[in-house]
Amino acid sequence: MDSFTPDPVLAALAARPDGAAVLGLRGTRVAVVGGFVRDSLIGRAPREIDLVVEGDPRLLAEQLGGELSVHAAFLACHVARDGWAIELTQARRERYVHPGALPTVEPATIEQDLVRRDFGVNAIAVTLDDGQLLAPAGALEDLAARRLRVLHEQSFIDDPTRVMRLARYRTRLGFAVAPETAQLAELARLDTVSGARIGAELRLILGEPDPLGPLDELAGKLPLAVDRELVAAALALAPPDADRELLILATVARNAPSAWLDALELTARERAVIDFGARAASLAAALGAARSPSELRDVLRTVPPEAVAIAGALGPTEAARRWLGDVRHVKLEIGGDDLIAAGVQPGPELGARLERTLRRKLDGELEGGREAELESALGGGP
Ligand code: ATP
Repeated sequence: MDSFTPDPVLAALAARPDGAAVLGLRGTRVAVVGGFVRDSLIGRAPREIDLVVEGDPRLLAEQLGGELSVHAAFLACHVARDGWAIELTQARRERYVHPGALPTVEPATIEQDLVRRDFGVNAIAVTLDDGQLLAPAGALEDLAARRLRVLHEQSFIDDPTRVMRLARYRTRLGFAVAPETAQLAELARLDTVSGARIGAELRLILGEPDPLGPLDELAGKLPLAVDRELVAAALALAPPDADRELLILATVARNAPSAWLDALELTARERAVIDFGARAASLAAALGAARSPSELRDVLRTVPPEAVAIAGALGPTEAARRWLGDVRHVKLEIGGDDLIAAGVQPGPELGARLERTLRRKLDGELEGGREAELESALGGGP
């Protein structure tokens, strides 16, 4: 087995712009923990720093300088400065009153804090004052074996979102899942968990380099369906202004029940994209039937680009590409003010004149820029 020492963790800390400040923290027992330790020990580039503190994390957070936000209910502080961020959390023991609910917490030692964590490989810490490597039983062996293992049998019952974390780490790190942990994960149910927590974990998954691995793994527990070819085709059509994470979510959640989506506490834009995504098959049919740029506009003018990409991926690729790359960007050179200056009353009629003119322009029926547009908009009836 690899025999781990704290050195790579301390070296990775020292190499960061905020490293000296972190290594100089004094006053109470504090350790770096979680992903930073895990990644440094196996030679991956570590990401955020998480510190676990015995006592009030505020006392140390203030030593770091920077912008401090305190989450008293979670006994945690967040410090941000010059592009880096550090999370400081008070060491705690947790009691889970209901499966899936947030736990009640009480202050504890760092060692006690480590055993309430999700997986052995995430429960390794290095103390900052004396550079000790701390780990619950089996955790260093897990890391040496590149293995994800829960620290006790109740783990997924206490917090079923850990199955979402399991799927995420497994894909990202390429670690195996310990057989007993796999069995426990299979039994875990996500329906006791609030939609907001599921939504938060989904966002973390979508931020991964390969979100489809974990999404596929979770498809038996969440109402998601992963069609890799469809996602790849939709991503290939996605224009630069599309939100790629949201596009993936909308593609895999195409058949999700709306009550489930309601619970996720999505933003209005996220929800709108998902709802349009759910209509992708009928949009695709309409898109395939559109014969001119103005007909493309009839079908797509209110549809977000992510949903157009999904619809295009279902078949009418060229029509989607044409809309996204070209047609949707076509604008008139004239505006409402020009028509008002020419005597048209503000109101629906003015809008109809502009729309009619834009359609002509899109279909190549207007030669000659601004003048021709104005003539078209002012000519004829409303
Ligand atoms: P990464 O940032 O690489 O995704 P991380 O391990 O830093 O990984 P965070 O989500 O920042 O992940 O969590 C920090 C640490 O907090 C984890 O390593 C783990 O020890 C603990 N943790 C986070 N979520 C849970 C959970 N639901 N149950 C138990 N422990 C958790």
